[in-house]
Amino acid sequence: MKNWLICGVLLIIMLCAWAFLPPPIYLIGAFMLFFIGYSEYQNSGSPRGAVQAIQNTSQAPAQSGAATAQVILPEREMPENIPADLKCPSCGASIKPTDRQCNYCSSNLQPLLELPEPAKLAALEIGKTVRVIHPQKGEQTYQVRGRLLYTELWQASRGPNIPWTPTGNYYAGFALEPDAYLLNWQERFYLLETRRALTDMDINRDFMPYAKQFAQSNQTARVQFSYDGAHWLMVDIGRFAIEFEEGEGLHLRKGAIGRFIHSKSENQALVLDDFQSGGSGGQDTLWRGWQINENEIHF
Ligand SMILES: [Zn+2]
Repeated sequence: MKNWLICGVLLIIMLCAWAFLPPPIYLIGAFMLFFIGYSEYQNSGSPRGAVQAIQNTSQAPAQSGAATAQVILPEREMPENIPADLKCPSCGASIKPTDRQCNYCSSNLQPLLELPEPAKLAALEIGKTVRVIHPQKGEQTYQVRGRLLYTELWQASRGPNIPWTPTGNYYAGFALEPDAYLLNWQERFYLLETRRALTDMDINRDFMPYAKQFAQSNQTARVQFSYDGAHWLMVDIGRFAIEFEEGEGLHLRKGAIGRFIHSKSENQALVLDDFQSGGSGGQDTLWRGWQINENEIHF
């Protein structure tokens, strides 16, 4: 509106000047007015451009972020109060609410919590000793401190409005002592040793471009990227929900919903867990460690 008023005033000035001034002076005046007008136009254009840029950057993380995912999980009945000191009715030994068998007298138990069995490592329980062939240090002995049960999620087709639902597969992760995390996902086993927190900005900058490329190829493309001094190959991306947590030393809580990126560099592994900001139960985390074979885990 203001611009049209300026143009109108300028037009009147130019018409008057055309009538009264000699042509050379008129031409110089016209050029000056044109350049003043042009710079004015550019100035008024740039704030609009800036607003647009801000809108674009605020949309990008939302579209790629975990926030847009719609996840539908079945209701699972959980007893309100689980007694802390459950005892085996046959021998009186301490049992866990999920135990189907007493570890001491081997009598069958009716578990207080009916949890689904993970696809692998179902018999590895809290308190047990597990021996793992470490790719660098050889055989290592760990104690299981805590266990996470993961629900694998999938989408019938890609898109922000397609809900994510359980595939029916469950996988387990174990907090170990000395400090490490043993994770199974599909046919892969990870011994993860170092963990660091990431921000959404870190993830968007260092991982998202490659994850998008990998997703767009339906996880068939050979997507490689450099990170933390190594060259990584993207292996798997997807989503999970934490079905259950038990024990100590765990970094995730029941109900946490996140997406993951698994990458490898020879036998080294990178496991990224990305949670929606504002409390879906987890801190964005990057684990680094090793990919090991199932037959290198003994318990
Ligand atoms: Zn017993």
